[in-house]
Amino acid sequence: MPKAGFKSITISEQVYDKFHDVFQKNKSELAMKGVNSFAGYVTYMLEDMMLKDKTFARYAPKLEKISVDDDRVIIKDNIKNRIAEVTIQRGELFCQLCEEKDCVHIGFVFSLPDVYEVLNSKGISRLK
Ligand SMILES: [Zn+2]
Repeated sequence: MPKAGFKSITISEQVYDKFHDVFQKNKSELAMKGVNSFAGYVTYMLEDMMLKDKTFARYAPKLEKISVDDDRVIIKDNIKNRIAEVTIQRGELFCQLCEEKDCVHIGFVFSLPDVYEVLNSKGISRLK
C-alpha cells in the first residue's frame, strides 16, 4: 500500500523499464530540475504532458469562421459540431443556433477584426 496522499498504479514491465532506462540515463540532468527519484520523474513527465496538452487545447480552434456576408456570419462550432449562423437583425446580432443575442458565437464574431470593423461601421456593438 502506498503511503497517505499517494496512489499506486500498475503498468507493464516493458513500459516501466523504458521509462526507468531514460530516468537512469538522465539522472544528473533531472536532478538539476529537482527530480530526484523515479516516481518524481514520472510525475514530472505527466505534468509536462498535461501542460503541453493544455497548450494544444488552446490552439485547436473551437470556433472557426466559415464565411462572412453583409449581414450574416457563418461559424463552425467544433465543440458542438454544429454550424452557427449569426445574423444582423434590427441592428443587433442574433445567433440562430442558440437563439440568443449574446452567446459564445456572438462573442467570437466580435473577436474577428474584419467583422468587427464592418459591425462598427453599421453602429453595432456588443451588448453590455
Ligand atoms: Zn450561439
